[in-house]
Amino acid sequence: MSSREAEIILIRGADVLTMAAGEEIRPSRADVLIESGRITGLGADLAVPAGAEIVEAAGRLVMPGLVNAHLHSSEMFLRGRYERLPLEMWLCWSYPFFGLEPPDLELLRLRSLLVAMESLRSGVTMISDDFFDPPAHHLARLGTVFSAYDEAGIRANVSSGLMNRPYLDTLAYGREVFPARVQAQLDFPLTGADEYTTFCEAVFRTLHNSGDGRLRYMLAPSGPQRCTVELMQACRDLARQWQVPYHTHVLETRTQAVTADKLFGGSIVRYMHEHGLLNPNVLMAHAVWITDEDIALMADAGVSVSWNILANLKLGSGLAPVRRLLNAGINVALGTDGASSNDTLRLFDVLRAAALVSSATAKGPMAGLSSGEVLHAATLGGAQAAMLAETTGSLEVGKQADLIILDLSHGTAFTPLSDVVNQLVYCENGSSVESVMVDGCFVIRDGSFTRLDEAGILSEMRARMPAFLRQHQTTEAMNSFLIPLFQEVIARCDRVPVAAERYLPS
Ligand SMILES: [Zn+2]
Repeated sequence: MSSREAEIILIRGADVLTMAAGEEIRPSRADVLIESGRITGLGADLAVPAGAEIVEAAGRLVMPGLVNAHLHSSEMFLRGRYERLPLEMWLCWSYPFFGLEPPDLELLRLRSLLVAMESLRSGVTMISDDFFDPPAHHLARLGTVFSAYDEAGIRANVSSGLMNRPYLDTLAYGREVFPARVQAQLDFPLTGADEYTTFCEAVFRTLHNSGDGRLRYMLAPSGPQRCTVELMQACRDLARQWQVPYHTHVLETRTQAVTADKLFGGSIVRYMHEHGLLNPNVLMAHAVWITDEDIALMADAGVSVSWNILANLKLGSGLAPVRRLLNAGINVALGTDGASSNDTLRLFDVLRAAALVSSATAKGPMAGLSSGEVLHAATLGGAQAAMLAETTGSLEVGKQADLIILDLSHGTAFTPLSDVVNQLVYCENGSSVESVMVDGCFVIRDGSFTRLDEAGILSEMRARMPAFLRQHQTTEAMNSFLIPLFQEVIARCDRVPVAAERYLPS
């Protein structure tokens, strides 16, 4: 999918919000010139180069495409299925231990296309997909995800996530609460660091940098408590070698905080530090239950955090101390997380929730995140977390043209128009997105996908969903006996005191 509609495109007369670092976050009237996928001109009344396709954009807002820093495509068919469950119980059904039948390649393709379509439709041009596909790692299956994203035209970092410690050793009280018979069932054989490294090297040789360089592989050991030190260090080395993110879940729930205290003698962030696992490649999902010492270590190392506020609210995980992260100089990005814990990939919903929650938990007036800070996190912050700050996340000469065009007269979000930046955060839900360009190619133009038969794909998917969901229901039933056991683990953890600073949400 490398053909571009026109090699030279001039978007003319738009209000352009560049989100460039150091510039005021305010739109100004400008033209955007794009040549061979790259922004080569930005300013008022640019000359029209010979052969340019002109896109008239008066009354439109042009801004960088949003970056979704954390999702799992694996959850895409499970939206709207669960509620009122904390993470550890929810995992039993969303990531079942028993009876999981991996979707066939065609379903995998459809599922990945659904991720791309929902993302692009709502103005997201770049995603970090922590793809989880137990029980094994297969080049052909991962390749199906890559080729679906290529087909859709989206930019993506994709992992093949894993954990490789026995599950009950990653959970405080797991070995005490679970009967021996169940423990034996849960102690699966696990992937070793060498085996995983070999797989990753094959991915780097084949899939990495495909789709004209839009599609990259990233390392994603599930969480420091869930992986051996050898595996995490091997992933760290590969991430450095290939200059890609090292994506991992850190202290999402209170149960994980108690687990870290019990199994690692304190902060899991310090544990990462002591094992040489903190560096600028690290993208931590969540970072809810962290201490001030953790924040200092994270800031020193230059890690990024994906704040997944809607998933944290849905699973009742807690509120990340985002103001303290920003004050420490830590790069914060925004993520939806998967569609089973959110339950959509509309990043605009996350922007609004982020602003609202940070105001509700702020210490004093004007201490919540401003609209500008929220938009930064959703664009350049996300690009930096994806290690693509030189490529995407803002509109600047020299960067690839990943942008969205919003029709401010569509619907009511911008009527009346008081403050575009505030209204992007507090009023917009993605429905004003009219056109979407990734890498200089329109993937949505005037409301329609240019490369995908959206209706056809959705109807193909709907035809397969009844059988898929019936199968999943059977799988849920096979795993239901675990729910009260995890509930007991959570109850025991709830009785263990946790340092008060970990509750501070701002
Ligand atoms: Zn996650």
